[in-house]
Amino acid sequence: MSQEPDSADAPAKKNRRRIPLHTRILLGLLLGASLGMAAHACFAVPSAAGNASQCDKDANGIDDRLDFVALQIADPIGRIFLRLVLMVVLPLIVSALALAVVELGDLRHLGSVGLRTLLYTLVLSAIAVTIGVVLVNVIKPGQRLAESKRDALAAQYAGGAAETVAKSRQAKSLKNTLLDMIPENPLQEMVGAIDGSSKGNGILAVMVFALIFGAALAQVGPRAATVISMLEGIYAACMQVIDWAMQLAPMGVCCLVFAMSSRLGGDVFVTLAWFLVTVMLGFALQLGVVYPAVLMLFGRCNPRTFFRAIESAMLTAFGTSSSNATLPVSLRVAEENLRLPPAVSRFVLTVGATGNQNGTALYEGVVVLFLAQVFGVHLAITQQIMVVLLSVLAGVGTAGVPGGSIPMIVLVLQSIGVPGESIAIILGIDRICDMCRTVLNVTGDLALAVCVSDRTGE
Ligand code: ASP
Repeated sequence: MSQEPDSADAPAKKNRRRIPLHTRILLGLLLGASLGMAAHACFAVPSAAGNASQCDKDANGIDDRLDFVALQIADPIGRIFLRLVLMVVLPLIVSALALAVVELGDLRHLGSVGLRTLLYTLVLSAIAVTIGVVLVNVIKPGQRLAESKRDALAAQYAGGAAETVAKSRQAKSLKNTLLDMIPENPLQEMVGAIDGSSKGNGILAVMVFALIFGAALAQVGPRAATVISMLEGIYAACMQVIDWAMQLAPMGVCCLVFAMSSRLGGDVFVTLAWFLVTVMLGFALQLGVVYPAVLMLFGRCNPRTFFRAIESAMLTAFGTSSSNATLPVSLRVAEENLRLPPAVSRFVLTVGATGNQNGTALYEGVVVLFLAQVFGVHLAITQQIMVVLLSVLAGVGTAGVPGGSIPMIVLVLQSIGVPGESIAIILGIDRICDMCRTVLNVTGDLALAVCVSDRTGE
């Protein structure tokens, strides 16, 4: 995975005069939202809809013509780009995770450094996701939408709230949840992860398969070289398809937001504001409490000195939304400002740019639970634990490029019975969240490098 494919912003880079992709997505959101709210005011509010007779309205009090434009025209157009993402998400996850393990295996010569990096990664990500999950359960941003509107939304995306709620009721015992992580038939789990028919744990089982397969490839060594380069090819091709899909995102977001806001009105944006508050609070806790505590306890480093030393890496991460693009700056601050041993910091930071993504893991957990709340999908404690696990692993498999986590979120959503297309609800504000979560990802990599270096005794 060293040769990271072009980011979703690549075309914008090729032609600097063009408006950057994230700005176009935001414009798409604003256009869809204003058109949708205007249409809602004219056609959906009974008092204002003097031009539509009662018999022209559906059960939600929405004019049939508006319903037609929203559901039969805007919604299908909007879903095209999401389907393109969904199309490649499984091969992407399998190749990304397997290659991540192969890379770690390759570097086992570094001895315990690899193992400690892995341990810190898992622990830091698990703490981050747990913070996010607790915050969503306390703030309940998704439940700020009236129940009638949540049902309308579920009907729009999944053919009825009942279906999604019914799927979520299939809660399993902890024993079965754990056992089902090891798939009997990975191919069946791959199919089930997308259409919800899996017998086991769906995407989690697929991820476990990819990790075991990657470990085996690393163990087999040179004999697996062909399979490894095939996986690298698959990974690069999937990222290319996602790049193409993202070019359609501005139009897609505009259509999906129009379809949503024309039927539901402005309430959905209030819900979105609560979502943003939850995400930012989670980021602030991880950045302001968890990292300083870890640095003092395990890195014997003053957090103030640390943050001052890595300022330029944090700013670059914020500006580029890409851990990979920030890597050269991170390497420089690690060696020049933090004075970490190059052998350790190069390894930790290079692997961490893709593998250690605490901000992304936190975000993935929050988005999934938020959308589950919006869709009235109740998740039992075992299912929430599964979301934590999935988000930690998804964080490991997420590419360090702008919007790298979107395919992962879509798949985790599907696996808990929430339609993947519903990600459109948050796509318009994803860029600002991406800028912030990338700051966390990069800070986490550098904090990890400090802790690992300290224990190495160098
Ligand atoms: N943009 C993030 C990074 O590069 C990945 C993501 O969460 O989308 O670290």
